[in-house]
Amino acid sequence: MKNYPKQQILRQRHIPQRSCIACRETKAKRELIRLVCSAGVVEIDPEGKKAGRGAYLCPACECWETGLKGNRLEYVLRTKLTLENRQVLIEYGKSLPKRGKKQI
Ligand SMILES: [Zn+2]
Repeated sequence: MKNYPKQQILRQRHIPQRSCIACRETKAKRELIRLVCSAGVVEIDPEGKKAGRGAYLCPACECWETGLKGNRLEYVLRTKLTLENRQVLIEYGKSLPKRGKKQI
């Protein structure tokens, strides 16, 4: 057993967790799709690297439907969605598979 510095081990073990704004499930960050608000426009950020306030949704159309209903996303991102902007996100959500039975 090698003698690694303690901090390095802690950092390796840490998997960033985020929760979906629709179903509230907590998952590893890379299993969720990030939405980012930059310059007043909400964009999908597949790389999770864009700067700005972010929100996370499961890659499932049900969660996008729920997340884009009402002003949930706007509240989380502290922004206002334009109709066109919301439509783009809704369309993206429609392209995602249905969650169906819960898979682990
Ligand atoms: Zn979800």
